[in-house]
Amino acid sequence: MALRKILLNGDPALRKSARQVEKFNRRLHMLLGDMAQTMYDANGCGLAAPQVGILQRAVVIDLDEEDSVLIELVNPEIVACQGEEQAIEGCLSVPDIRGHVVRPQRVKIRAQDRFGEPFEMEAEGLLARCVCHEIDHLQGCLYIDIMTRQATEEEIKAASDEEKKRSKK
Ligand SMILES: [Zn+2]
Repeated sequence: MALRKILLNGDPALRKSARQVEKFNRRLHMLLGDMAQTMYDANGCGLAAPQVGILQRAVVIDLDEEDSVLIELVNPEIVACQGEEQAIEGCLSVPDIRGHVVRPQRVKIRAQDRFGEPFEMEAEGLLARCVCHEIDHLQGCLYIDIMTRQATEEEIKAASDEEKKRSKK
């Protein structure tokens, strides 16, 4: 596995639509492995293939909570949404700022695993937010396109204190 370079806002690849993955081969497995390593190295909780310049519908997510688990989504699609929630988001491709984004509270998604096996997954809260954020990347959409406003320093600090409290549980 190897670290890949994370493209930053302004790079045209971040604005393109990614293609369906059709070959579930070693090359895809290598990409997913590299993406996970790159995400962990950058302390992110999600990464989409276009962020490393690969226009394929592949995503990795790890919320790094107590039951930290790596989720790989190939060709993910949202099939149902419920509720709305506003929270602060950031993105490895848009360093230094954070913003308020309204996302569904719960989502149901359909995707394939690294071997092409289809599955469905339900997510809520932070995981639902993260899934929506990463699927947006596959469409060439960044959260700054849909944020209601940029978060202030105080809001970012309050949110990260809250996170620390939660992770101590
Ligand atoms: Zn992002």
